[in-house]
Amino acid sequence: MAKCKICKQPYQKRRMTQKVCETVECAQAYAVIDRHMKELKEIRARKLAIKPRGQWIKEAQIAFNAYIRERDKGKPCICCGNALTNEAIGGGFDAGHYRSIGSAPHLRFDERNCHGQRKQCNRYGAGRAVDYRIGLIARIGLAAVESLEADQSVKKYTIDDAQRIKAEYRAKLKALKGES
Ligand SMILES: [Zn+2]
Ligand SMILES: [Zn+2]
Repeated sequence: MAKCKICKQPYQKRRMTQKVCETVECAQAYAVIDRHMKELKEIRARKLAIKPRGQWIKEAQIAFNAYIRERDKGKPCICCGNALTNEAIGGGFDAGHYRSIGSAPHLRFDERNCHGQRKQCNRYGAGRAVDYRIGLIARIGLAAVESLEADQSVKKYTIDDAQRIKAEYRAKLKALKGES
């Protein structure tokens, strides 16, 4: 026996798609809800369709940065070697890019280019580029740092790319949290 979505009473289903019992009250009540749900679905679909590329990239960046912060928690700050504190809401430290997103957008999702950094260093110390470089060499090696510095490739992220990156880093973050 199926259960009516409105009155919660059991009833005999006549069609596979039937959701409510045979009473007019339940049929009408359900029709209203059903229409409302369909409208919501349409609005959501429309919103998704018009979400601009920049918004998708922003969301991918949030997912990427969250992964970097999880990867680097417990490590010292990339530039000054001080402890990364993580008591503030939203993460007490940043995922700081060595080559900034503004000047090297093609490296915005490069894991070698992004490391846990204290907010003071990242935001108020102009990224502390020289100290960052020293810390980065210690962490990933001179060859990798030089390859980052030499990389002038042009990368244009499509909406598909951004969606894929967002999903990838959400999964990576989950996996990382599951392991620890
Ligand atoms: Zn009913
Ligand atoms: Zn620092």
